[in-house]
Amino acid sequence: MFSLNKVIRPHILSLTPYASARDEYSGKEGTFLDANENSFGSVISGNYNRYPDPYQWVVKEKLGIIKGVDAKQIFLGNGSDEAIDLVIRATCEPQQDNILILPPTYGMYKVCADVQNVLVKQVPLTPDFQVDTKKVLETADEHTKIIWICSPNNPSGNIIERSSILHILDNFKTGLVVVDEAYIDFATEESFTKMLDKYPNLVVLQTFSKAWGLAALRLGMAFASEDFIKILNKIKYPYNLNGVTQKLLFEALGKEDKKNKYVKQILKERQHLQKELAKLSIVKHIFPSDSNQLLVRFSDANAIFHYLIGQKIITRNRSNVILCEDCIRISVGTKKENEILIEALKKY
Ligand SMILES: *Cc1c(COP(=O)(O)O)cnc(C)c1O
Repeated sequence: MFSLNKVIRPHILSLTPYASARDEYSGKEGTFLDANENSFGSVISGNYNRYPDPYQWVVKEKLGIIKGVDAKQIFLGNGSDEAIDLVIRATCEPQQDNILILPPTYGMYKVCADVQNVLVKQVPLTPDFQVDTKKVLETADEHTKIIWICSPNNPSGNIIERSSILHILDNFKTGLVVVDEAYIDFATEESFTKMLDKYPNLVVLQTFSKAWGLAALRLGMAFASEDFIKILNKIKYPYNLNGVTQKLLFEALGKEDKKNKYVKQILKERQHLQKELAKLSIVKHIFPSDSNQLLVRFSDANAIFHYLIGQKIITRNRSNVILCEDCIRISVGTKKENEILIEALKKY
């Protein structure tokens, strides 16, 4: 049986959070003399003089409808990176607890753990970038508070088999299973947000940085049980999402069609890029992708990566990463960008 109270650090459970002025009175109408704001206005045009809603309820209600979850099951942060950091800080005692990651994977899980002096256990993915569930469950110990599963994975691009994730959710009950779905919009698999009511040990991360094209706004989502979201709200900075971002997000949520259109275009370009890359003799393997990135094994990744830099074409050299020897990660660009890349590689 999963017990959230056993997973959260005891002092966080008992902590009294900062109560902002907007916590103590959440009504919209009135004469607001509670937060020491400038009631006259802002020094630039536009009204930025009032503190924003600390819980972003208006956008969460709209987002909840799109995602099919309750607004109270949503946390919004300054990028997914904020959620990654807070999930670790809520659960892991430094130098005592550990997290378990499945490399090669997104770098921030380990960096956030390292900052907090939290130990990191690693169980590499299999050579086809799937999860060795048996090894994962054997490696997790009583101090393991989080198992991170990135699906579709970065840098490999593939989706993790649903049955593997379900197996871990069913068998790891002493901590949280975080499924990072930053690239889920590009995949055909259904999101794990649909499983939240069944698994209180599940946290799903998504982001507006990829398919939605809002990387500059810094907007990440975490979906989890209402109780766990309450914990994240307790330890976040009170006004972690600024008012401008909340307003732009509200607008963006009305344009899901446009996001879906972009996804279609990107998938079409990915297919084309894949086909063109496969014709090149320097390309040894292209890993299957369920996202907007292609992991490509080259004859000599280091040399090719530096050659591309010389042509002002920036890719991500992953050749020093476990299971990614001689691999470069390529983000799918526009038709024009992909052509520039292919033409340069042809001349190599
Ligand atoms: C890009 C990416 C994110 C997004 O991070 P943001 O902080 O929301 O921009 C999260 N997880 C993975 C695996 C990613 O590749």
